[in-house]
Amino acid sequence: MPTVEPLQLQTPLSSVPSIGPQRALLWSRLELHTCGDLLFYFPRDYELIPAATSLAELAQSAHRGLKTASVVGRVVESERRALADGRFVVNALIQDDTGYARLTFYNQPYRLDQLQRGARVMATGDFRATVSTIQMNHPRLIVLAEDEDPPGAGLQPIYGLTEGLKQAEVRRTVRTVLAGVIDEVPEVLPDDLRAKLQVGGIRAALRAIHQPADTNDRDSARRRFIIQELLVLQLALAMRRRRLTTDLRAPPLPPSPKINARIERIFPFALTADQQRAIEEVGQDMSRQFPMNRLLQGDVGSGKTVVAQYALLLAVAHQHQAAFMVPTEVLAQQHFQTLTKSLAASRVRLGLLTGGMSAVDRRTTLAALAAGELDLIIGTQALVSPDVEFAKLGLVIIDEQHKFGVAQRARLRRGGLDPHSLVLSATPIPRTVAMTWFGDLDVSQLKEKPPGRAPVHTYLSRDGWRDRWWQFVSDRLDEGRQAYIVAPRISAEAEPDTSSVERIYAELQAGPLRGFRLALLHGRLGSREKVDVIERFAQGRVQVLVTTTVIEVGIDVPNASVMTILGAEQFGLAQLHQLRGRVGRGGHPGYVCVFTDGPDDPQEHERLRAFAATEDGFALAEADVRMRGPGDLLGVRQTGMPPLRIADPLRDVAELEAAREVARELIDHDPELAVPGFERLRAQVLRRYGETLELGDIA
Ligand code: ADP
Ligand code: MG
Repeated sequence: MPTVEPLQLQTPLSSVPSIGPQRALLWSRLELHTCGDLLFYFPRDYELIPAATSLAELAQSAHRGLKTASVVGRVVESERRALADGRFVVNALIQDDTGYARLTFYNQPYRLDQLQRGARVMATGDFRATVSTIQMNHPRLIVLAEDEDPPGAGLQPIYGLTEGLKQAEVRRTVRTVLAGVIDEVPEVLPDDLRAKLQVGGIRAALRAIHQPADTNDRDSARRRFIIQELLVLQLALAMRRRRLTTDLRAPPLPPSPKINARIERIFPFALTADQQRAIEEVGQDMSRQFPMNRLLQGDVGSGKTVVAQYALLLAVAHQHQAAFMVPTEVLAQQHFQTLTKSLAASRVRLGLLTGGMSAVDRRTTLAALAAGELDLIIGTQALVSPDVEFAKLGLVIIDEQHKFGVAQRARLRRGGLDPHSLVLSATPIPRTVAMTWFGDLDVSQLKEKPPGRAPVHTYLSRDGWRDRWWQFVSDRLDEGRQAYIVAPRISAEAEPDTSSVERIYAELQAGPLRGFRLALLHGRLGSREKVDVIERFAQGRVQVLVTTTVIEVGIDVPNASVMTILGAEQFGLAQLHQLRGRVGRGGHPGYVCVFTDGPDDPQEHERLRAFAATEDGFALAEADVRMRGPGDLLGVRQTGMPPLRIADPLRDVAELEAAREVARELIDHDPELAVPGFERLRAQVLRRYGETLELGDIA
C-alpha cells in the first residue's frame, strides 16, 4: 500500500487522496493547483445552517415563531405524481424518533432517487406545522451515509464551483487541506503592522474565513484579507510613485508669465477656475526635474483639451517636442485641425501621425520628428510603434485614458530623459476607485463645466415614434442646428434591420430628412474620406452625420445639438454618456433621443433608464458599477492591472484609506521595503504587480 505523504502547501491537488489526477483537472479550471491555492480560495458567500431539531420539538417551536429549521430523519415512503397542469411533484414522508414530516418538491423528478425508502436525510428550510403534520417545501437536502454525522449548526461556506465539482466536495477538501497544512502557512504581515491595522494572524484568519464560528469571526477574517490585498496594491503603487520621482529624470519645463501670456492669447475664451487650477498644477509638475505623472479627470465637455494644449505649448516654448496621443484617427484629425488653426500665427511646427496615412507621408513625418523639425505631433497608437523616434521629447499627453492601458503610458519613454506625462480621462471615477487603480498618479479635476452650457434633454422612445422624432430633428435643422444619428452597425446583418448606418442613411435621405445634407461616417471609410466628412460636418456643410460610434470620443462640433441613438441597448452606459457629450456644447440646448432595436421598450432597460435619469457622469458611473460590478468600470481591465479578489474599493473605503496611508508611510521610510520582516510582503507586491507597474529592477 502506498504511504500517504503528509500534505504541504506546495502539494499538487492531484496528490491529495480525495482528489487524484483525474479530478485535479476540474480544480485547475478554477486556477486551483496546490494545497496553498486552495487555502486562499475564499468562499464567495455563506449560509446559515440551524442545528438539527427533533420533529416533536419543531412542532412545539412553530408556535414560538420559528420558521427555518434543520431536521434529520429516515424516509418512510416517497412517491412521484403528475399534476393536472403537467408538473410533477415528489412527496416524501420522513420520520425520526419523535414524529413525522412531509417534504415536497415540484418539478424535480430526480428527488425521488435521493428520497428512497430507508435513506437518511437532513432537510433544511422553511416549514409549516399543523396539528397533525410538519410540511417542508423545497428544503435543502443532504443525503447522509448510515454512520455520518449531520453537519453542525453554523455558517457554511459557499464556494464558487465549476461544472462537475460539487459544493460538498469542495467543502470537504478544504477542511482536510486546512487541517493538514495550516501550521505551515507563513505570516505575511509583520506584528507591528498587524497591530497598527488591527488585524489578526494569518492562520486564525484562514481558519475563520473557511470555517467561521459566527459572523463576527468571519467578518474580521475577511477584513484581514481585504486589508492585506489592498495593502499589497497600495505598496506597489507607492513604490512606482516613488520610483517615478527619484529614479527618473525629466527636463524642467517651467511656466513663466511671458510664456503663459503667449499661450493664453490663443484661447478664444476665459478659462474656468478649474481649468486655471489644473494648468497651475501641470505647470508646477513640469517645472520639476522628474517626470510629471498626472491624471486630468473631467466629465465629457468639461474642457480638458485646453489644459492639454497649455501643457503642449509649454513644452514647445522650451524647445522640447510634445506628443498628443488620442484613441481614434478621427479625433487625431480634429485636434490637428483645431491646433493648426489656433497656431496659425505662431512658429510651432505641427505634425500628424496615424495608421491610415500613406507610406510616403509617414516616412517624411518620422524623419522630421527624429530630426527635430516638428515641435508637436498628434497621433493615434501609431505614435508608439517602435520606429517612431523623437529628437527631444519633453511631454506626452494621452487623451481619453480609458481607451489605453497603463502599459501604453509607459511605452513612449525611452532614451536618456523621460518625458512628462499627462493622461486625460472623461470617465468619472469615484474617488476610491481612482485611489485604487491610479494611486501612483497625481490627479487634477475639472468639476465645473465651461459657462454657457445648455442642458441636454434625454428621451427614451419607442420605435413607433420615430416619425415624430424625425419631424423634431428636421425642425432643429431648419433652425440652423446640426444632428448626429448614431447606430451600432455599419451594414445590415439580418432582416429586418432597423439600426445599421447604411440602412438608416438611405431611409432618411429618401424620406423623413429629404432635402437636408446628410453624410455617412464609419470605420470602414478610408482615412482621407473620414477626415473629409468630419471637416464638412464641422464647417456646417454637412447637416446630419449618420455614424457609428467612431464619434464617441472627443468630437467637438458645438452647433450640433440633436442626437439620435439607434439600437441603444447595444451600447454600454459609459459609451452612451460619451455619445451624449457631443451635444449641448454650443449654448444650444441638446436633445438626445434613444431608440432600441425592434419592439423593445427602452423603458424596460435598466441601463437606458439610468442614462435618461441623469446627466451627471459620476452618478452614471456609480449606476454602472452597481449594474456591472467594479471590474468593468473605466475599463479597469484595460489598465492591465490584475483584478482584486476579495476587496471592493466602493465598499471597503475605510480599509482602502488605512492601507494607503500605511503603504505611503512605509515606502517613504523604506522605498524598497527592504527591512527584515517585510520579505514576504515585498515578495507578494512584486509577484502580483511587479510586471504591470514595472517595478522590475527593484526586485
Ligand atoms: P472634453 O473635456 O470633453 O475634452 P473639450 O475640451 O472638447 O471637452 O471642450 C468642450 C467644449 O467646450 C469645446 O467646444 C471647447 O472649445 C469649449 N470650452 C472649453 N473651455 C471653455 C471655456 N473656459 N469657456 C468656454 N468654452 C470652453
Ligand atoms: Mg476631449
